[in-house]
Amino acid sequence: MRHPLRRATLAAAVASAMAFSAPQARAADLPVAVDQPYPGNLTLHVDLSDASRHLYHVRESIPVKAGHAILYYPKWIPGVHAPSGPLSNVAGFIVTGNGKRIPWRRDLKEMYAFHVDVPEGVDKLDLSFDYLAPATPDYIPLSFNEVAFYPAGHYTSRITIEPTLKLPTGWKFASALETASQSGDEVSFRPVSFENLVDSPVMTGKHFTRIDLAPGQSTQVHLNITGDTAAGVKATEEQIAKQRALVVQANKLFGAHHYDHYDFLLVTSDHTGHFGLEHHQSSDDRLFANFLTDPDANAAAGTLLPHEYIHSWNGKFRRPADLWTPSFAEPMQDDLLWVYEGMTDYWAGVLTARSGIWTTAQWRDSLAAIAADMSARTGREWRSLQDTADGIPLSSRGSTGWANLRRGADYYPEGQLLWLDVDTKIRDLSGGKHSLDEFARAFFGTDNGSYVPKTYTFDDVIATLNAVQPYDWATFLRTRLEYTGDTLPEHGIEGGGWKLVYDETPTPFAKTAEKIRKTVNFAYSLGIQVDDKGVVTDSQWEGIAAKAGLVPGVTIVAVNGKDYSAQVLKDAVTAAKSTTTPIEFLVKNIDDYQTMKVDYHGGLKYPHLVRGEGKDLIGAIAMPKK
Ligand SMILES: [Zn+2]
Repeated sequence: MRHPLRRATLAAAVASAMAFSAPQARAADLPVAVDQPYPGNLTLHVDLSDASRHLYHVRESIPVKAGHAILYYPKWIPGVHAPSGPLSNVAGFIVTGNGKRIPWRRDLKEMYAFHVDVPEGVDKLDLSFDYLAPATPDYIPLSFNEVAFYPAGHYTSRITIEPTLKLPTGWKFASALETASQSGDEVSFRPVSFENLVDSPVMTGKHFTRIDLAPGQSTQVHLNITGDTAAGVKATEEQIAKQRALVVQANKLFGAHHYDHYDFLLVTSDHTGHFGLEHHQSSDDRLFANFLTDPDANAAAGTLLPHEYIHSWNGKFRRPADLWTPSFAEPMQDDLLWVYEGMTDYWAGVLTARSGIWTTAQWRDSLAAIAADMSARTGREWRSLQDTADGIPLSSRGSTGWANLRRGADYYPEGQLLWLDVDTKIRDLSGGKHSLDEFARAFFGTDNGSYVPKTYTFDDVIATLNAVQPYDWATFLRTRLEYTGDTLPEHGIEGGGWKLVYDETPTPFAKTAEKIRKTVNFAYSLGIQVDDKGVVTDSQWEGIAAKAGLVPGVTIVAVNGKDYSAQVLKDAVTAAKSTTTPIEFLVKNIDDYQTMKVDYHGGLKYPHLVRGEGKDLIGAIAMPKK
């Protein structure tokens, strides 16, 4: 059912359609945003009561003056680091003024800008549209950038908006937004800046749990959970204790926080993408339906909540100067994502271990998996780590074939190894007196309570590192960031007293990853990864299997004359160790069947860390702070 008010507005609008003439075609110079308050408050009403039909109905009003106005739909989305605003999901976009329809015209160069000629006597534009939403019958993770336009020409931090929401009947919700009032399913939030609105998603659902993660503390932190089933949104006492330890350990690490209150918004579902998106005072966290009920799933995704939480400090509060933008229209520059994401990934591993979500051994197994994966990056010959950050707005992160050659978003995993390298170097140079913990406190632990972004440059990172431990950090980082060649340029594993080796038995972590990802990793033996249907998902560039024709996208139908299964292939690889006969594959490529022979006799290979030279610094880093 549509909102009755909206239907009336639409009827009036249609009756008076074409009362005003359409704006001329434009590819205009768009206005530079100014750091001045936008006059008047916007209002926004998002009606989620029709979400079961995959529709959100939206009404918005924007105060304007007569003349030319430009409305933007948010394009560059913080945390995504890319021009990914889902404008193609907006339909039925109607603009009215004083009840009369006003034509709009899209800018010819900037597709996210809409020109409107505001007639004399109109001081407010009324927008109505539908957001064509994905199907999620039991919950909605609502991001406001999907359902709100804003006027061009002002910093979004200087535009004030009053959001209201109609929930599906009986559903509960959580958000970092502060509730002004609630009457049944209608919720009014306190006015916020447009910037903070986009930074404050609402999670609403049928099955709902809210857990206090900072009991007795003046600054509240909550874990809110919704998802597919009632059982899937319940956390155990042990899980809760570990998430509480995460809050304690993060605050001990950074020494200050950057939120009034913090809300994890966790969806446990098999019907939404699995990802996390950071915000100052909340995070949009989406994981498997069995994340809380299956210990393996829980361990496999153990760093997700820590990662998004750490972003409140690294990424939201401290933000690369060229990534920060005054509105969502200006391009973001992603060259410092190896700090923004790489160091966040590093601290996520550390805090996951310090809080007990992982054991130290699990963290080491994770580092072994990452180090092996990054060591096998054939694409390092042509593409530096720095370029993986620079080029991310254009990358299709969904494509995985030839991942080792493309490199994708390597600033996450290799960034993690980079910061382990820095941390162990500081500890080594200072004889154990100093560590990256001091950098964390100095860089992120200022301005307690503030969530106004504080920007930084590469030089600021270097200056803070030098204040912790003098060294030529610029050269140290640049040589690793800009390296092209065939070896892993980071040495934090060795610096931490461990080394990467391969044997025939997977670590428990690798076994779990195999189960969760439904993909078997033969990358370090045959040079392929294969999903549970036999599809080759990745193949090492110029590897023995790729040369034989086992490339991403083909399906392995049989191995040595037997139907494909992961176990059949593992057995064949093991058996080939003691023969000189190649392994024979029957492979399907679209509708073409071929036999391929791979002359490999090296056995199965899985990565592990074993103790190397020097002190166990990885063990020391994983120790909880007192
Ligand atoms: Zn991140």
